[in-house]
Amino acid sequence: MNEDKPISRQRKWQLKMKAEGRCETCGKPCAPFTRCEEHREIQLKKYASHRKKWAQKNKSRTREYRRKYYLKYKDKIMEKQREYRKRKRLEQS
Ligand SMILES: [Zn+2]
Repeated sequence: MNEDKPISRQRKWQLKMKAEGRCETCGKPCAPFTRCEEHREIQLKKYASHRKKWAQKNKSRTREYRRKYYLKYKDKIMEKQREYRKRKRLEQS
């Protein structure tokens, strides 16, 4: 650990509580976890909502979404591809 790095009072408290096997947020004994049941749940919820937001933001990038999109517009996409190929063939000849 880098001792020169300034740590906030909050972080110090969290590390101390962690070392003593207590909840980082309220100081209740909670070994072997880093948080008591209550705060673990809160953290999980926070994380879940964050993930949801992230997923919504990056929806178009996910494979699942692309797959759904493809299945939904399969016919249109195929038609476009066919048209494109036809046009290419005409250009070549
Ligand atoms: Zn707690």
